[in-house]
Amino acid sequence: MSHEGIRFVSAEEAEQNAELESRKLPPDAVTPAKVLVKKTEGTGVEIDWRDGHKSAWSFFWLRHACPCATCHEEREASGRAPGEPKPKPQTLLPMYEPPVKPLEVSPVGKYALRFKWSDGHESGIYSWEYLRRQCGCEECKEA
Ligand SMILES: [Zn+2]
Ligand SMILES: [Zn+2]
Repeated sequence: MSHEGIRFVSAEEAEQNAELESRKLPPDAVTPAKVLVKKTEGTGVEIDWRDGHKSAWSFFWLRHACPCATCHEEREASGRAPGEPKPKPQTLLPMYEPPVKPLEVSPVGKYALRFKWSDGHESGIYSWEYLRRQCGCEECKEA
């Protein structure tokens, strides 16, 4: 009998594995019980999760947290966190920019939301998991 292939996991590796496990969210934490898209009010999205937690994001934040590859890479390159807007160039006469809002919000299967924004962008798929990990409530911000 060969023992090849059996590998002892070092304490460090075990710790890393445990950390990865703990980062995996339980299904109830990434399953919405209620999704409220306040399109008419123009405010944002609110989600009540199955585990009892509540999250809310403004449309402004959501637009700047677009998870599509282009926006993600652009944020990574400039070191911005999801939801953080691009710094505006300082001009003497700032142009008025109407706040970006969603023209359409549609579910993607059972796992995500998709926004068609008023600035024409629509490639971001906002999965429940992404949104839950970006919950901005006090409790999550501290964790
Ligand atoms: Zn994007
Ligand atoms: Zn939270």
